Amino acid sequence: MADTPADLARLLMGAEHAVVLTGAGISTESGIPDFRSAGGVWEENDPMEVGSMATFVTEPERFWRFHRPRMDMVDGIAPNPAHEAVAELERRGLVKAVITQNIDRLHARAGTQELIEVHGSLGHGVCLRCDARISGDELKARADDAEDGVPRCSACGFQMKSGVVLFGEPLPAEAIEAAHDHAIRADVMLVVGSSLVVAPVSQLPGIVVDGGGKLAILTQSETPWDHRADVRLHGLAGVQLVEVIEAIDAMEVHG
Ligand code: NAD
Repeated sequence: MADTPADLARLLMGAEHAVVLTGAGISTESGIPDFRSAGGVWEENDPMEVGSMATFVTEPERFWRFHRPRMDMVDGIAPNPAHEAVAELERRGLVKAVITQNIDRLHARAGTQELIEVHGSLGHGVCLRCDARISGDELKARADDAEDGVPRCSACGFQMKSGVVLFGEPLPAEAIEAAHDHAIRADVMLVVGSSLVVAPVSQLPGIVVDGGGKLAILTQSETPWDHRADVRLHGLAGVQLVEVIEAIDAMEVHG
């Protein structure tokens, strides 16, 4: 018989240290395309090229022509019921941390507190030469004010980038360490909206199951970890996670 949101609710209610791992699929219901589904970002651009460190360094104008509109796209978008349900699970003490590959800040805006952004985020700008940091709003203003569309560091004049980790750039060590620590401690990991093919996040479910923890996966497509999942849900993250909260409410009422 197919697994249900109530099965996931039971798993979370029995956990000591449940951790949520999310990918681009949790934000598609907010209107941000994911990478690998039909109509996703891969189809129109090659982010590995235009979103790479090499392009940022050698062709900053081209990089910023691609990057700047994406910052606006995310601004005009709101968290959806899936982000809100994940924040609610943390508020109720049923989830200890959220590890996300997303750069869109929607978990933070939905109220998630313990948030680990392993691919960085659009929330700030950084200078790779002198380490200066500015807010995302300031970064956009500088890009808009520059004739060539490239924001520059006011301290050293070098071109600035957003806090998003580019292809060819190392992942933030602190975030990766925190994600590993949570995976080691986790007795339940819930994956939402990730195809689990991008390393190192794709290795986290293995850390959990090898340590005796349980795995739940909620995506629309298959993942390489499906055969190890204790609970496997398909369908829309927003719909399914709202049903999980409702199932938890019902179980709490009935003791
Ligand atoms: P992916 O595109 O490889 O996989 C998305 C997964 O989510 C698929 O399994 C798909 O079936 C599922 N999915 C899509 N819509 C869904 C929905 N409404 N409900 C449930 N499942 C849904 O995404 P990934 O694993 O995160 O890897 C892609 C990379 O792209 C990551 O590195 C991420 O940083 C980056 N990215 C981020 C954003 C964002 O910040 N919103 C958007 C695009 C890409």
